[in-house]
Amino acid sequence: MLFSEVIGQEELKRKLTHAAREGRVSHAQLFLGAEGSGNLALALAYAQYAMCENPSEADACGACSACAKMHKLAHPDLHFAFPVNSSKASERNPVSDMFLDPWRQTLQQNPYLTEPAWYESIKLDNKQGNISTHEADAIMRKLSLKAFEGKFKMLLMWLPERMNATAANKLLKLIEEPPAQTLFLLVAQNAGQMLKTILSRTQLVSVPPVRSDALAAMLAREFTLSPSEAGTLAHLANGSVVEARRMAGQGDEKRDYFEQFATLMRLSYASRAENIILLMQQAEKIAAQGREWQKNFLLYSQRMVRENFALNQQVREAVYLAGEEADFSAKFSAFINPDNIFRLYEALNLALQHLGQNGNAKIIFTDLVLKLVKLIVPLKK
Ligand SMILES: [Zn+2]
Repeated sequence: MLFSEVIGQEELKRKLTHAAREGRVSHAQLFLGAEGSGNLALALAYAQYAMCENPSEADACGACSACAKMHKLAHPDLHFAFPVNSSKASERNPVSDMFLDPWRQTLQQNPYLTEPAWYESIKLDNKQGNISTHEADAIMRKLSLKAFEGKFKMLLMWLPERMNATAANKLLKLIEEPPAQTLFLLVAQNAGQMLKTILSRTQLVSVPPVRSDALAAMLAREFTLSPSEAGTLAHLANGSVVEARRMAGQGDEKRDYFEQFATLMRLSYASRAENIILLMQQAEKIAAQGREWQKNFLLYSQRMVRENFALNQQVREAVYLAGEEADFSAKFSAFINPDNIFRLYEALNLALQHLGQNGNAKIIFTDLVLKLVKLIVPLKK
């Protein structure tokens, strides 16, 4: 991982490379930042920078043999520890090394890894991972060896908050007085869940949320979005690369839902007799979609109704709308008020419920659109 591949965080990159060049490298550092901040990506880039044979002022060279190994996350002096668990009761005492292949693969695909996504990729089902005393023993063993080829031996531990107290206590002394040329890089999201004794022995590298201009540039690169759409999503993502990508990835489907929703609502509030026929045709169109689409469309509609009610009641902080949704809602919110919100919500809920019971989609959606016509009435002049 190169610093140039890390999204945003320019100031922190400068600080880290500067400190490394000056040789002011603390032997135990804690990269602390929220999910999606890029704390793991930064720690990986930092590790590569420290190992690189020919780094420039701003980044590792990306071409030397150390960089090649770091790129594959397979440098013999870079060790990893991360939360694991076994999916079968038969596999006892799981440690990180047993999961190195999926770890490298998952991380190379996406260094903005989240804890749930990691557990999913090692098929833990609903179990949580942990960093056990067996892991602590393995770490002590590995770090007692001499560096194979690098300038440093490193241990990158992801989510030290998943380490139990016994394991943490085993590692305390090692973190406090590590063998020569040994670096600990701890990458955490929640300092409150870590042992104070570990915290006090590390130097804090505080990773802030990613600035929205950097998020917008990333979204514009990775998705087909207009600059203004990218800007709005980046703003809504609260400094998280993960959240920004998630929202942008839903873009295409969401546009479908939005268009369908807007069509139904426009036909409903105009409330002319000929619109009823058009509404029934829309109901048939929706009924021809797959179940999953129908379900998501109803959930989307509930969200829009909720947000429009918030807008109607001028609860500004509750409103979470972007782009065309916001444009549409500026006028449409006048139609969602205390007189109809309960029955609207109920109508959508009932449709969801009937869908879940495998009801006939054509009947469900015809019923729904007829209710909409009754509930969404033209505004009094
Ligand atoms: Zn290099």
